[in-house]
Amino acid sequence: MTRLAVDWTRCDGHGLCARLLSESITLDEWGFPILTDAPVDEDAARTAVSVCPALALRIEHPARTA
Ligand code: SF4
Repeated sequence: MTRLAVDWTRCDGHGLCARLLSESITLDEWGFPILTDAPVDEDAARTAVSVCPALALRIEHPARTA
């Protein structure tokens, strides 16, 4: 299961991620992303991470339990 996280110290509110992942990211009134809890398609997540101009997006994998 793939989830995204935002580094708020980097995010500039470009909104590109929401355009690429409109099912899982919306924008607030200032253009900053709001991530839902919905799992994200891994390929789409990788694309969003690679095009974020502020390098603010990262993929988070849940901790594995034994
Ligand atoms: S593309 Fe990057 S900088 Fe732009 S809103 Fe999304 S996380 Fe923030």
